[in-house]
Amino acid sequence: MIEADHVIQFSCHKGISCWNACCANIDISLTPYDIIRLKKRLGITSTQFLQDYTVPHEMEKEGIAGVKFRSVEGGTACRFMKPEGCSVYEDRPTACRYYPVALLSMRRQDEFVDRDAYAMVREDHCKGHEVDRRLTIADYRKDQGVEEYDELARGWRQLILKKKSAGPAIGAPSIKSRQLFFMACYDIDTFRALVQSEAFSELFTLPAEEWTRIRSDDVELMQFGFRYLKQVLFGENTIPLNEETAKERLEKWRNRTAELEREAAEKRAKYEADMLAEGIDEEASGLAFCADDSGSCGKD
Ligand code: SF4
Ligand code: SF4
Repeated sequence: MIEADHVIQFSCHKGISCWNACCANIDISLTPYDIIRLKKRLGITSTQFLQDYTVPHEMEKEGIAGVKFRSVEGGTACRFMKPEGCSVYEDRPTACRYYPVALLSMRRQDEFVDRDAYAMVREDHCKGHEVDRRLTIADYRKDQGVEEYDELARGWRQLILKKKSAGPAIGAPSIKSRQLFFMACYDIDTFRALVQSEAFSELFTLPAEEWTRIRSDDVELMQFGFRYLKQVLFGENTIPLNEETAKERLEKWRNRTAELEREAAEKRAKYEADMLAEGIDEEASGLAFCADDSGSCGKD
């Protein structure tokens, strides 16, 4: 683990013998901001981007939804790799910008803020480590334009750390909360549809200009999504609720839960009654069999 003022030796440039080697065998996780940049670059929706260019995965063992780049059909190379280099260079993801540095986002148990530390990744194929260019990690991050990416992914990383810090005692998140996390973090265009729905604006009360900002700007919407997830998943209430609507929803939810429980109890009772009836029938037919002339049916 190294700090931002640590001096590294590294340079990557066209003409180096390993050019593109790192992009030929990828395992790249994407942040929500990476997806916004790339879908905008490609002129497609987040839903389309997720379908065409990514595969879902589970981060760690905590059941946190993540997204990785999908490699080329039948191969391991990045779909944006071209002989001349990265075809989405200006919008390349955070992991590509950082390489060969790795960002470690951590939070100590007694702290409420996360802090960054770094590590160097040394792979035999990467000859950039042999080039005599020295700079601090802080300067390397500036050079790679990674500061903006990190700042905009902070809320997402905090959500992940919160889930990890909660530990196994909290258990795996429900399917619904995983889906919500996935949508708000990665499928921003679907999340926008939710935020624009009447039901959503009835439940949350925000000033009109804030609604406009959130609904019209992907990055604002993404930041709002992190706030929303902190509220619904961790009870950190920062988005004011319309108390009246919240009460009504809670009441509806309680009624619906009670209805489902009633239905389940009825089904259970019917099932038990059917089983009982089947058992009685069986016994009855056994008796009928025993009562035949032979006087022996093999049953007690
Ligand atoms: S996005 Fe660009 S830099 Fe990143 S793996 Fe693909 S080609 Fe390489
Ligand atoms: S120096 Fe490293 S990062 Fe640059 S092209 Fe070669 S393998 Fe990739």
